[in-house]
Amino acid sequence: MGILEVRDVNKNFGGLKALNNVNLDVQEGSVHAIIGPNGAGKSTLLNCFVGRLDPDTGTVMFNGKSLLGLKPHEINQTGVVRVFQTPEIFTDLTLLENVMIPAFARRDGAFKLNPFRDVEREGEVRDKAMSILEEVGLQEDRNKIASSMSRGDKRRLELAMCLVQDPVLLLLDEPTAGMSRADTNATIDLLKRIGERGITKIVIEHDMHVVFSLADRISVLAQGTVIAEDVPANIKGNPKVQEAYLGGAHL
Ligand code: ADP
Ligand code: MG
Repeated sequence: MGILEVRDVNKNFGGLKALNNVNLDVQEGSVHAIIGPNGAGKSTLLNCFVGRLDPDTGTVMFNGKSLLGLKPHEINQTGVVRVFQTPEIFTDLTLLENVMIPAFARRDGAFKLNPFRDVEREGEVRDKAMSILEEVGLQEDRNKIASSMSRGDKRRLELAMCLVQDPVLLLLDEPTAGMSRADTNATIDLLKRIGERGITKIVIEHDMHVVFSLADRISVLAQGTVIAEDVPANIKGNPKVQEAYLGGAHL
């Protein structure tokens, strides 16, 4: 039994079968990578876990409870937190403020701030935000405006904004997209460190160096179908996987 259990999920867009009887079991505390060529349905699948899309049929269970029909903020409150493909940060605020906002919002389930109650909690939230910024290596930059940071730092900031919400399951859609090799390696190290806290992670990723550095298990999607699910060592040589990647990305 996994912490996330996906059974027979189907999703059509008009005539296009974006997800075709997808099954997935993610073990608690593991890193589960989802790979596959462009258009395979990876982001669609992730969207079905966070309430952005409803599957046409199938079930998605997290910790034994269905996520289907819940609103995105309700799913967030169960501990399922998504890191977006492009950073969604508050560009005009400082890094510290960026991390404090989701910490406040977490318990309310929406970005509704309550100035009276929040004043009492400000010290606690600030301390927590500071320790997370330290964890991702941005503590020195805490008073800088977010828009002034490099692309890699913005992604680190976004990760901090997710971590401050105490995620149980972290969903990462291409966490190293557009990063330099140095930033990619720093992100791998950071994600490994986060792993030590026991947060379960699902990582969608094109960069095979990242996938094979991080993943405990890999599911391969092609044209909406899971064509392989195994430990990394068995995925590389899988003929179905090699075929799916022919002419596209390389393993
Ligand atoms: P991936 O993330 O693996 O690259 P996606 O999940 O984004 O793939 O897309 C899977 C397929 O579904 C693609 O053919 C894409 O064009 C299509 N698709 C994704 N989202 C929508 C949508 N909202 N409406 C129509 N088609 C979509
Ligand atoms: Mg995608």
